Amino acid sequence: MISHILFNFVKSKIPRVSSTELVALRSGNTSLDRQILLGKVSLPKKVISKQKFPQSKLNELYNTFDGSTIYPNDNNNKWINYLAKNKYFSFLINEEYGGIKLSVHELSNILTQVASLDPALGVSVMVPNSLGPGELLTHYGTQEQKEYYLPKLANGTYIPCFGLTGPYNGSDATGSIDEGQVINVNGKPMIKVNINKRYITLAPVANLMGIAFNLKDPQNLLGKSGITVALLERDHKGLIQNTHHNPMNAGFPNGTIKGEFIFDPSQIIGGTNNIGNGWKMLMECLSAGRGISLPATANASSKVASFGIINYIKTRTQFKIPLSNMEAIQEKVNSMVYNTWIIQSAICLTNTILDQGNSPAVLSAIMKQQTTERGREVLNHALDIHGGAGICIGYSNFLEKFYRAAPIGITVEGSNTLTRSLIIFGQGLNKSHPYIFPILESVLNNDINKFKKEFNSILGHSFKLYAKTFSIESNMNLEQQIINFACLTNFVALKGGALKSEQMLSGAMADIFSNLYLALGVQYYHNENNANIQLTDYVIQRLLKENQHNINKVIDNLGSERFFLQHLKAGVPNTCFHEERKIFSHILNDVNILNELKKNIVLDNNILDDLLKANNLPKDSNEYKMLHDKIINVGEFENSEYIK
Ligand SMILES: Cc1cc2nc3c(=O)[nH]c(=O)nc-3n(C[C@H](O)[C@H](O)[C@H](O)COP(=O)(O)OP(=O)(O)OC[C@H]3O[C@@H](n4cnc5c(N)ncnc54)[C@H](O)[C@@H]3O)c2cc1C
Repeated sequence: MISHILFNFVKSKIPRVSSTELVALRSGNTSLDRQILLGKVSLPKKVISKQKFPQSKLNELYNTFDGSTIYPNDNNNKWINYLAKNKYFSFLINEEYGGIKLSVHELSNILTQVASLDPALGVSVMVPNSLGPGELLTHYGTQEQKEYYLPKLANGTYIPCFGLTGPYNGSDATGSIDEGQVINVNGKPMIKVNINKRYITLAPVANLMGIAFNLKDPQNLLGKSGITVALLERDHKGLIQNTHHNPMNAGFPNGTIKGEFIFDPSQIIGGTNNIGNGWKMLMECLSAGRGISLPATANASSKVASFGIINYIKTRTQFKIPLSNMEAIQEKVNSMVYNTWIIQSAICLTNTILDQGNSPAVLSAIMKQQTTERGREVLNHALDIHGGAGICIGYSNFLEKFYRAAPIGITVEGSNTLTRSLIIFGQGLNKSHPYIFPILESVLNNDINKFKKEFNSILGHSFKLYAKTFSIESNMNLEQQIINFACLTNFVALKGGALKSEQMLSGAMADIFSNLYLALGVQYYHNENNANIQLTDYVIQRLLKENQHNINKVIDNLGSERFFLQHLKAGVPNTCFHEERKIFSHILNDVNILNELKKNIVLDNNILDDLLKANNLPKDSNEYKMLHDKIINVGEFENSEYIK
C-alpha cells in the first residue's frame, strides 16, 4: 500500500521524458561521473598506446603551411586537399579499410598541435575525425557501405561533412528537422527529401555529405519512420551546395546544403534497418566525440596564449620595468595558467577514460563546456595583457586568430548555455546517478517491484552519504567535497521535473559537478607528470573554493531541505595576495611548468619561437635587441592612397 502511494507520488514528480531524451539517456556509459555521485572515486590507470602517425609527417605540415586562409581561397582548396591526401582525415578509420586509427591520446595530441598552428586548419582536421560519415559508417554501416566508402574516405578521395542543423532546428536538433517521405517510383520505394541545412562545417568543399532528416512513410512502403541518416555525393541530382557562411572570418569551410531530391534507400547508413535510428546513432557517437575535438582546440589556444604571454611579459617593458613585475599582470597570468592547467589536465584524464573504451556522455559534455568556456577566459586575459599588439593583425600577434575562433567552440556541438544549464547536471542526475535512472525506468515501465528495490537502494545510499557529511575533514578537501556534493545531489534530485525549468540551480550544480571532475583531472595529471606540486595544490584549492561558493548558493536557494544541509556550507577563504605572488613566481621560473605548457604546440619559425629565443639571450646582445623589436612590432600596411 505504502509503496503504491510512493510509486504514484514519484510518478507525479517525474518529468515527461521525450523519446529523444530517452535515447540520449541510454547512449554511452558512465565513468568517474558515477563514482562522484557515489561519493567515492578511484583514478584510472594510464593506458599506454603506440604512436602511429609519424612525427615527420606532422613536421612536414608545420614546415610547409603558409598561413593562408583555408576557405575561401584562390588556390583550389590546396590545404584541404593536402590534408585529405596525407591521411589527416583517416584517424577514426580502421587499418583494414586503409585508415590510421589512432588512440584517443594520439588523436588529441595531433589535433592540439594542428590547431595551435592554425585554428582553421585544426577545425578542418577535426571534423572528418569526429561525428560524421567516417564514424557513422564504422559503427553502423552495412559491410558493403564500409567496403565502398571507408577506403575512399581514408585516402582522401571523399571529403566528408555532416548536416543536422537548419534554420529551424538548432539546439533542438530534431524538433523541426527537414522531412523526407518514402515514395513509390516505378514500383520501387525511393526516398524524397527537402533539405535546408546551414552552418555545416566543410560543406563548401565536401563531396560526401551525411544528412539527417525525419523520414515519414505514409504508404507504409518500408514500414519504418523517424530520424534517419543517409549519405549523398556532391553531384547528386537536385543537391545544391552553392553558398557558404563566414564564421568570424576564421577561415575554414562552412556553409549550406539544400535542395529537393530523390535517392535510393540503400544510401541510408546501415540500410533500411536503420530508418528511425538516426538520433540514437548520433547520440552514441557524440558521447565520446564531444570529449576530444573541442577540448583539443581549447587546449591549443590556451597553451599558445599562456606560453606566449609568459614570455611576452618578460620582454615587454613599460614604466622602465618588465610587465612581469606588475601585480596586475601577475594576477591575470595566474588565472590564465590556472585555466590552462585545468584544461590540459582534464584532457589527459578524459583521454585515458576514452582509451579504455568508455563513452561517458556526461563527462564529454563537461569537457566540451568547461574547456571551451575556460579557454575563452584565458584568451580574454591574454588579449588584455598583449594590449594593442593583440588587437592589430600582423606577424607578432599570436592571439587574434584564436580569439576570433573562440565563440565557435562555445556554440557548436551543443551550445554551452544549454549544455551547462540543462545537460551536465540534468542529464547527469539521470545518467550518472546509480539509482535515479533505474527508478525512472521502473516508473515508465510501471514495474512496481523494480521500483521498490531501487527505492530502497537510493534510501540506503542517501542515508549513508548524509552520515558521511558529518566529518572532521574540511569542506574544502577534495574527497570530502565529493561526498558533500553527492549528498547535495540527492536533496536537489527531490525537485524532480521542476529542475528542468530551474536552470539557475541546475547550472550551479553543473559547475560543482564539473569542477570536481576537473580537480580529479589536475590530481591525475600531477600523478602522471609531477610538474609542480605547489601549482597543483593551488589549482585544486581554487576549484574547490569556486565550488564552495556554489554549494553555499545552492543550499541557500533550496526550500525546507536547506535546514538539513547547513553543515555543508562554509566560509570561503579570501584570496591571499602573498600566495598569488608565490604561485606567479613558480609560473615564471619553474621550467617544468613551462615545459608542460609548451607540450603539443607548434613552436617552429613563429613568433612564439622568437619569444622563447629572446628570453634565453642576454638583454644587451644585438640579437636580443633585434628579436625584441620584432616582438613588439605590430603589422603595418600601406595606406590606400600610396598603393600604386
Ligand atoms: C561555425 C559553426 C559550425 C557548425 N558546424 C555544424 C556542422 O558541421 N553540422 C551541423 O549539423 N551543425 C553545425 N553547427 C550548428 C551548431 O551545432 C548550432 O549552431 C548549435 O546547435 C546551436 O544552434 P543555434 O545556433 O541555432 O542556437 P539556438 O538553438 O537558437 O540557441 C540560442 C541560445 O539559446 C540557448 N538555448 C536553446 N535552448 C535552450 C534550453 N532549452 N535551455 C537553455 N538554453 C537554451 C542556447 O544554448 C544558445 O545560447 C555549426 C554552427 C556553427 C556556428
